[in-house]
Amino acid sequence: MTDTAYRPSFVWDAHACLPLDAVKTPIELLDTYADSKIDYVCINVGMDMNSVAHILRVIAAFRAKIAARPDKYLQIETFDDLARAKQAGLLGVGFDLEGSVMLQDMPEMVPVFARLGVKQIHFAYNRNNSVAGGCHDTDIPLTDLGHEMVRAVNRGGMIMDCSHTGRQSSLDIMRVSTKPVVFSHANPKILGGHERCIDDAQIRACADTGGVIGVCGFQRFMKTPNAPDIPDMIRHIDYLVKLVGTNHVGIGLDTMPSVAVANDFPDGVDSAYYWPKDRGYGPGAGGAAVFDPRKLPALADALISAGYKPDDVDRIMGENFVRVAKESWL
Ligand SMILES: [Zn+2]
Repeated sequence: MTDTAYRPSFVWDAHACLPLDAVKTPIELLDTYADSKIDYVCINVGMDMNSVAHILRVIAAFRAKIAARPDKYLQIETFDDLARAKQAGLLGVGFDLEGSVMLQDMPEMVPVFARLGVKQIHFAYNRNNSVAGGCHDTDIPLTDLGHEMVRAVNRGGMIMDCSHTGRQSSLDIMRVSTKPVVFSHANPKILGGHERCIDDAQIRACADTGGVIGVCGFQRFMKTPNAPDIPDMIRHIDYLVKLVGTNHVGIGLDTMPSVAVANDFPDGVDSAYYWPKDRGYGPGAGGAAVFDPRKLPALADALISAGYKPDDVDRIMGENFVRVAKESWL
């Protein structure tokens, strides 16, 4: 990517997925994000289908691998680490959890995972569980345990996320949370069409908490015929900005860099359960390309060209999520 005219003050990618292979995942997969001029990326360390043992192995391995490259990366533990990483020219890396099964029905697990570097969590991965509803399941309210879990997240120093969560549960979470709530990677349903996308009421409720919707670059949720490109990102950003303003829009691309040797799929998991074929997944569904993060600098330029003011571009490219982190992390 050639040098660009505008450099946003901070670039935040709210969600990415490295293979959950403690041994074989090379941490240098993170170089894609550094090369994309991203200052902070939040990477997944476990979903509802992963065992606690698997998740702990991944966390331990990723932490060690990040620590072994102090020339490139900084594990983000506190809010001040964001500025420290930026100043040193390092990629800040935080962890997120997609689901709450690993919490083992114990709110006390939230601060434990927080101390291991988990900076963001949503409660259900597509399917209902004991805490909340998932977006590809029967629409249920947040459970009593779920209410306790929101309080634990608010106290525990994580960003409360509602991606992959069922509609009613997400609205309940946003109503009861005392901190801003985000959709780290989700797109407007009116444009994306997919059941994983979120409707206008969810978008408005998120903004009302002071939260941020991270535009996801995943083709299935952008509804593009080809791999998502800059105009597709801008179409989704424009829609959100018109609905809730530039204070509540961000980026959460959901890229999945992979290496052939890494195998992160747990034995015996029924993938059709978590990604139901009749909900637009599986072979033949198509549309699995993701927006290339190396185009983010050009996206910032394109936003300027489209008439966004530099302050707005700063907010969308990262400062909105920085604001939420400041209010959420300990
Ligand atoms: Zn996800």
